[in-house]
Amino acid sequence: MTDSKTILIIEDEKVILHTLKDFLEVEGYDVLIAGNGLVALELLNNTPMPDLLLLDMKMPKMNGWEFARAYSENFKERAPIIVATAAVDAEQRARDVNAIDWVEKPFNLDILLEKIKKYTFQ
Ligand SMILES: [Mg+2]
Repeated sequence: MTDSKTILIIEDEKVILHTLKDFLEVEGYDVLIAGNGLVALELLNNTPMPDLLLLDMKMPKMNGWEFARAYSENFKERAPIIVATAAVDAEQRARDVNAIDWVEKPFNLDILLEKIKKYTFQ
């Protein structure tokens, strides 16, 4: 595929991170990964802006809220964020970080893929 969309997954749980990476790569996406917000910021400073960010909220070193603040302060052209959360107040969390949408944990991969397609226009 010549114009694959790139998804950045920011998630501290390694099993989830790699499961999602494998799943999305099979679906034809290019996938970047970061184990916390700090790693994600460093990555974004050194790579073209991805098409979409999938953001976990609870992470060590730099959590989703801290990441979102730094992201909006440091990048003018920003990819939309989808929040991934097990919280009952998922919608509020999405609003907290100006996310375009959210997905619930544990993941329903069909729903996740549907939303990723929607926001990457695929
Ligand atoms: Mg987490």
